Amino acid sequence: MTHADYEAFAQRWTEAIVGSSYVSMGRRALAKHLLDLTYQLVEGFLAAEFDPSVGREVGVAMVAGHFTGTGTLKETLALIAEWLPGLLASAPPGVDVTGRVAQLVGSLAAGYASALRERSLDEQDAIYRAGLRARRQAEQALAASEAKFRAMFTEAKLGIGIGDLKGNITDANPALQQMFGYSREEFTQLNVSAMVHPEDAESVWEVYVELVRGERDHFRTEKRFTTRDGGEIWTDLTVSLVRDEGGEPAYQVALLEDVSERRRMQERLQYQAYHDPLTALANRQMVTERLEQIFAGPASRRRVGLCFLDLDGFKVVNDSLGHHVGDQLLKTVASRLTSCCGPEQLVARMGGDEFLIIVEDTAGEADMAALADKILSAMAAPVRVDDHSLTVRTSIGVVERPVADTNPADLIQAADITMYQAKAGGKARYAMFDQNRNDSEVASFTLSATMLAAVASGEFFVVYQPLVGLVEGALRGVEALVRWRHPTLGVLGPERFIGLAEESGAIVQLGHWVLARACEQARAWRNAFGDAAPLVSVNLAPRQLHEPSLVADVTKILADNELEPSSLQLELTEQSLMGDEAGPLSALTKLHGMGVRMALDDFGDGYWNLPDLRRLPLRELKLAGSFAAGLQSPCNLVDQRIVRALVDLAHALDLTVTAEGIETLTQCESFQALGCDTGQGAWFGLPGTPELIDALLLGAVPLGNREAL
Ligand code: C2E
Ligand code: MG
Ligand code: MG
Repeated sequence: MTHADYEAFAQRWTEAIVGSSYVSMGRRALAKHLLDLTYQLVEGFLAAEFDPSVGREVGVAMVAGHFTGTGTLKETLALIAEWLPGLLASAPPGVDVTGRVAQLVGSLAAGYASALRERSLDEQDAIYRAGLRARRQAEQALAASEAKFRAMFTEAKLGIGIGDLKGNITDANPALQQMFGYSREEFTQLNVSAMVHPEDAESVWEVYVELVRGERDHFRTEKRFTTRDGGEIWTDLTVSLVRDEGGEPAYQVALLEDVSERRRMQERLQYQAYHDPLTALANRQMVTERLEQIFAGPASRRRVGLCFLDLDGFKVVNDSLGHHVGDQLLKTVASRLTSCCGPEQLVARMGGDEFLIIVEDTAGEADMAALADKILSAMAAPVRVDDHSLTVRTSIGVVERPVADTNPADLIQAADITMYQAKAGGKARYAMFDQNRNDSEVASFTLSATMLAAVASGEFFVVYQPLVGLVEGALRGVEALVRWRHPTLGVLGPERFIGLAEESGAIVQLGHWVLARACEQARAWRNAFGDAAPLVSVNLAPRQLHEPSLVADVTKILADNELEPSSLQLELTEQSLMGDEAGPLSALTKLHGMGVRMALDDFGDGYWNLPDLRRLPLRELKLAGSFAAGLQSPCNLVDQRIVRALVDLAHALDLTVTAEGIETLTQCESFQALGCDTGQGAWFGLPGTPELIDALLLGAVPLGNREAL
C-alpha cells in the first residue's frame, strides 16, 4: 500500500462526507483530517494484534468532526467495504481479512452510533440547562423590579393606596399612613366609601363610580378628606384603574398629594381679596359679586333689600382725635352692625365710613325699616375709645325692591341717593327709598350732565318780564329770565336747572350766555326805540360773582353791543354776598364804578342782613314776592309797616325799591301807597318773548293785559 493509495481513499471519503454532511472545516483541512483517520484505520486493521476498537475510535472521531449527515455513515461503510478488500494482498498471512473487515465496520458503526447518541444527550442537556438559566434570570429580574416598586411605594413622598374594585383598601404606603394618621392595618380595614367628605362635590363620586365600572381609566381632582384625628386635609387625588391581561378591571391605585398648605394660602389670598382688613367685614368686591349672584338667579318674585350707612361727622373724629381713634370707632360700628344681622345677611364696609348691608328675600319695606331701626338703636350707646366717649350717629339709606325691577348698579345708586336724603333730612336717621324722588334725582343728574352741551346747541332762550314804574305806570325795564327748551321734556323753568347749574359750575357758562343774549336784545331795543328802550336786568348767580373774569366779561359784552353800562342792571342775591372774600365785593365795586346798576334780589327771603345794604354798592332793592303775598289783605298792618320801614330805609340809602310778585290790584295799590318805586309781577305781565315787549313799547298791547302777555 502506497501513500497514494491512502490519499486516494481519503479523497473519496472526503467527497462522500462533503456530499452528505455539513462540515465546518475547509475542504483541505477535512481531507487532511480524513487522511489521518485513514492511516489510523488501516494501521489498526493490519496490526498484528487486531483490535476492532480502532473502528469505534474512528466512528467517535467522525461524530466529533460533526460528520453526522444522514448518509454519512452509510457512505463511509460502503467505501470501507469496497476498498478494504484491496488490502488483502498486503495483509500478513493468517489474517482473517473478511472477519476483520466485518468487525471493523461493525465497531465503527457502533462507535459512531454511541457517539451520536451521547452528543444528542449532551445537546438536550445544554438546552435544558440553558432553559434553567433563563428562568433563573427572569425570576431575578422580576424580583429586582418588584423590589424597585416596593422601594418606590415605601419611600414615595406621595401617598399611594391600592384598593379592590369594591373599594376595600388593600395597601397603603407610609406616606399615606402619615397623611391620614391610620396604620397600614387600619387602612386595610377601611373602605373607600368611608372617605366621603360632607362637602365633596358630587362629580367626584360620579367619576369614581365610572372608574370602578371600567368606563374610564383614571381621574384627577382636588378633594378634601377627614383624617383619623378628625382634622381635614386637601389632596390632589389621582385614581387609576389597573386591568388584568384580559383587559378586565382588576384593582385601583390612588395617588394623593397633600395640598392643604397651598389651599390654605389660596384661601388666605381669597379672604384678603374679599374682606376689609380693618373690620374683617366683606368689602366692596364681595358686595359686587353677591349682588351679581342675586341678580343672576331666577328673579321671579324675589326681593332684595339694602341699607347704605354713612357715619355722621366721622371726619371730625378722625381729624381731631386721630386715625387710631377713628379706626377703633369703625371696628365697633362693624361689630354692632354684625350683631344686628343674621348670618345670611351680608355686612360690608364699602370704604371710609360707609357700610352696606344686603338682605336677601325680604318680604317688603317693613323688614328693612325694622332692620334700620335696630341699627339706629344699636348705635345709640356711646363708644369708648381710650379716654374718649364718642357718640356714633349714622344716616341710613334703605332700599327694598323686587329683583326683577332693578339691577345691582341702580340698587346701590338708589341706596346711596337715599342715604343722602337721610343726611339732608337731619342725619342720625334712615330714609326709605322713594321711587318718584329717585326718578327726579336721576333726572336732575341727567339734566346737569347734558346742560353745557345744551347751551352750545342753542336749547336755551331768554324771556323778559316788565318792570313797571308804580307812579306813572310805564315800562321802565325788563328782567331777563332764562328757559330751557329741552328736546324731550319741553320748556323747563329755572327752578329745574339753575340749582343744578350752580352745583355743577355750569352756571358760569350759562350765566355768561344769558348776559350776552340779554345785551344783544338791549342793543336791538335801543336801535328800535332809542332812549325809550327798557333797562335790562339780568340775574347773576353767586358763582359768577366769584369768577375773576366777571368784570372783564361784562365790560366786553357791553362794548360788543355798544351799550352804556347804565342800561344794564345785575341782580344779586344775599347768598352770593355771604362770606368775607374780597373778590366779589371788589368786582361789584368796579362794576358799580363803571355805572352798571346793582340790585339786591329777593330781599326778605334770605337773611335780612340790613348792614349789607350800607356796605354794598347797590342801586336797587327788590322785595321778595312774600311781601306781596302779605299785602294781599289790606288789614295786614304788620306787613305794611315792615314794607314801609324797608322802603324808607332803602330810600335813605339812596336805593330804589321794586316789589316782586304783584298779582293783584290790591297789592299794586298797597305798594304804591307804601312808596315803592317799581313793580313786577303777573299784574303787569308775566315773562314773555322780546316781541311782546316790542308790542308793549309800541303801545300795541296795554300793560297789565294778562291775556296778551
Ligand atoms: P327772580 O330773579 O326773583 O325772578 C322772578 C321770578 O318770579 C321769575 O321766576 C318770574 O317768572 C316769577 N314771577 C313773575 N311774576 C310773578 C308773579 O306775579 N307771581 C309769582 N309768584 N312769581 C312771579 P322764574 O323765571 O321762574 O325765575 C325764578 C328764579 O330763577 C329767578 O328769580 C332767578 O333767581 C332765577 N333765574 C332766572 N333766570 C336766571 C338767570 O338767567 N340767571 C340766574 N342766575 N338766575 C336766574
Ligand atoms: Mg331776579
Ligand atoms: Mg326776584
